[in-house]
Amino acid sequence: MDFAYSDEQRMLVDTVRSFVAKELTPHEAEVERDNAVRPDLIALIREKAKAAGLYAANMPEDLGGGGLDAVGVALMERELGRTSFALQYAVARPSNILRACKGEQIERYLLPTIRGERVECLAMTEPGAGSDLRSMKTRAVRDGADYILNGTKHFISYADIADFAILFAASGEEETKHGAKKKITSFLVDKGIPGFEVRMGPRSVSHRGFHHCELVFTDCRIHEREILGEEHHGFDVANEWLGATRLTVAAQCIGRAQRAIELATEWAATRKQFGQTIGRFQGVGFKLADMAVEIAAAELLMLQAAWKLEQGSATDQDFAMAKLYATEMLARVTDQTLQIYGGMGLMEELPVERLWRDARVERIWDGTSEIQRHIISRALLRPHEG
Ligand SMILES: Cc1cc2nc3c(=O)[nH]c(=O)nc-3n(C[C@H](O)[C@H](O)[C@H](O)COP(=O)(O)OP(=O)(O)OC[C@H]3O[C@@H](n4cnc5c(N)ncnc54)[C@H](O)[C@@H]3O)c2cc1C
Repeated sequence: MDFAYSDEQRMLVDTVRSFVAKELTPHEAEVERDNAVRPDLIALIREKAKAAGLYAANMPEDLGGGGLDAVGVALMERELGRTSFALQYAVARPSNILRACKGEQIERYLLPTIRGERVECLAMTEPGAGSDLRSMKTRAVRDGADYILNGTKHFISYADIADFAILFAASGEEETKHGAKKKITSFLVDKGIPGFEVRMGPRSVSHRGFHHCELVFTDCRIHEREILGEEHHGFDVANEWLGATRLTVAAQCIGRAQRAIELATEWAATRKQFGQTIGRFQGVGFKLADMAVEIAAAELLMLQAAWKLEQGSATDQDFAMAKLYATEMLARVTDQTLQIYGGMGLMEELPVERLWRDARVERIWDGTSEIQRHIISRALLRPHEG
């Protein structure tokens, strides 16, 4: 067991931290005010991220990516988590699911996302199918060598900016001992093709400037060569990388919590009431202590899961535990930070209320806290059940 950073990991953390402080954090107020990131700013961040070797750092080196291992990705995500999601998203880490590209898909989708020429969004959720994704109604019906897509996705992040969608649709049904089960196929669908419409979604309190959209498919025709992975095995492609995605959520929450406790500590050490700094009151000092313990615990859990991922021994339970604990920890830490700031914590001039608002979505997306608990409890109970 070795808990120390390697020289490379130390360098990575320093590079990302200073990139965030210099290139991203200064634009936070503008993004919050406008609920948008200017397209020229997105382009600038992309170029600077490429120059710093941070663009597509999660992708294999032989494909032009940064070649980070799972622990490296986790450390990078933790540092990026310190700033606004809308800004750090421009430092793209293309969806790992794209590694399933084959044949001409590699040149049309995978490599351009790594080079920063194209951007993807991932479309699974529907108005009637959130946690229960397999109940999705978007259908892909075969017509010779084509598929006809019909249905609606919602809550699809970044679809306003994206060039194409990784779409999951029901492509058939099979009988199992638990009843009929939908077969799901994943497709690569270019924006702008007939029958594919993108509409902006409602404004969310979390992560201003990071928009989500509704994707509407009406008799949208695509060729079978756009299938990602194998026909009817879309979830196989997704599940392989879902755990890694949950780990990035956990890592980002830890970065955000670290920023929150830094702000809280600074305030508690300088704000005076009753003739002394408020950090001297046990009611405030103990809050800081509890926050520090929780952040450290979340980080160990997250890094352990990342290390196991790298070793090939990580389970769904490892990812679920890391995501559940980090996201719930962030909610407590940002709430306590706001409490330590008192009324000032609620003011938009400071980043405290933003950290508190942004924390809320983490317990919902990429599998709610209840779904993570379901995964953990099933893994515990299964061996004892008949
Ligand atoms: C801002 C934002 C961006 C998003 N981006 C994307 C994206 O890019 N792509 C994408 O595909 N999706 C995206 N999502 C969707 C997100 O993953 C879903 O919101 C999430 O999976 C939960 O689905 P739901 O909102 O429909 O809630 P529901 O599934 O309807 O859940 C409602 C409540 O019921 C609980 N519940 C449901 N089932 C169970 C169960 N079996 N046991 C116990 N409790 C249960 C849930 O935990 C929750 O508390 C995004 C969501 C948001 C808010």
